[in-house]
Amino acid sequence: MKTRILVIEDERTALQSLALLLEDEGFEVLKAESGQAGLELALQQEPELILLDIRLPDVDGISVLRRLRAGHSNSAVIIMTADTNSSNAIRATQNGAFDYIAKPIHDDHLLVLIRRALEYRQLEQEVRS
Ligand code: CA
Repeated sequence: MKTRILVIEDERTALQSLALLLEDEGFEVLKAESGQAGLELALQQEPELILLDIRLPDVDGISVLRRLRAGHSNSAVIIMTADTNSSNAIRATQNGAFDYIAKPIHDDHLLVLIRRALEYRQLEQEVRS
C-alpha cells in the first residue's frame, strides 16, 4: 500500500505542483484547499503525513494542528510557511508539528524532511506497540 500524504494548501498552483512532485515520488496524495476541509480529510483518512500551509483562508495552520491533536490524529505534520522568522514556526513545533519548511519550497529539501518525518513516525509507533 502506498504511503498517503495530505496536502492542505489554498493556493491552487502550489497545491498542484506539490501533488505532482509527491505522486512522482510514489506517494498517494490527498488534497484540501481549506483548513476545515483538510481537518475533516485528515481525521477520516488518517494519512501518514500532512503538509500543512500555515496561512489558510478559514482556519490558520496552528489551529488545524491543535484540532488534529485534539482529534487524536497521529499523522506526522510538516508546516509550510513563508515566514520562518515569525513565532509561527516555533508555535507549530510546540503544537506537535514534526518540522517546518520555508516557502518557496525546495523540492529536494521537502523530500528529505518527508522521509525523516515518516521514519520518525514509524519508530514512534514501534515503540508504542
Ligand atoms: Ca496560503
